[in-house]
Amino acid sequence: VKDKFQAVWVSHSSISDFLACPRAYFLNNVYKDPATGNKIGIITPPLAMGQVVHDVLESLSLKPAQERFIKPLAYALELSWKKIHGLLGGFSDEATEQEYKETALQLLEKVEQDPGPLKELAVKIKDNLPNYWLSQEEEIILCGRIDWLWYKPDTDSVTIIDFKTGKYQEHEGSLQLPIYYLLASNCQNRPVVGAYYWYLRENAGLTELQLPNLEDAHKAVLEVARKIKLARKLNRMKCPQNGCRACTPLERIIAGEGTFVGTNDMRKDMYILKKVDNSTVVLH
Ligand code: SF4
Repeated sequence: VKDKFQAVWVSHSSISDFLACPRAYFLNNVYKDPATGNKIGIITPPLAMGQVVHDVLESLSLKPAQERFIKPLAYALELSWKKIHGLLGGFSDEATEQEYKETALQLLEKVEQDPGPLKELAVKIKDNLPNYWLSQEEEIILCGRIDWLWYKPDTDSVTIIDFKTGKYQEHEGSLQLPIYYLLASNCQNRPVVGAYYWYLRENAGLTELQLPNLEDAHKAVLEVARKIKLARKLNRMKCPQNGCRACTPLERIIAGEGTFVGTNDMRKDMYILKKVDNSTVVLH
């Protein structure tokens, strides 16, 4: 059995970083602050709000189906919001924070009004970070959290649901669905029979997705993972041009321009950036 700690771990976000650019991958997934030994990241209001909405919804799957909506989700939001209050969530002032909190509440109220599959049985993968050997021989592990696995007792099967809190649709050609399909198929025992994105800002409900062929998904993800492994081995993670907007925020953090706000549960030191006029930069 190979040592998981020696393996290269890949996820949807690290693969997306790598496909965007090698330096972006390095900054987000490899670089460690020599002072703390931790990786670094940036927190912004949309990211913080998205995390909290996900937390509230995902935690529902730990409750029996009939008890999930007894208490308004506003209570859970209030509790979870403490983790991102003020600078922790990148909020530069109270008014901005209130605006984002209001949006989060609206998204959760929409789910309460029409919870669909969230009222039904769910399967929870016990691992905090589900993972499996994408290739044991090549020492590559695929990891990632799946928002919700809807259990269908008549077929003893599961369906993937991914909550979307952002304004944009997942782009075509994204490896997110293949990655979630692989994780769901390899980190629990029931067959995976379907997948949906749930764009919470829209009133369209669930968007059904066509599951890819599992073997094709494995090949596509392994192909990128191999490139990542090679780039790490050869330390070939340089910017192919002279920088661009995408990496500037993390470069500025490394240059000491950020304000440290805390270390998250993935042991990433989180920062916010300030503009020259001293207001917080909203990056997305
Ligand atoms: S600065 Fe831009 S071009 Fe350079 S690695 Fe980052 S994303 Fe790529």
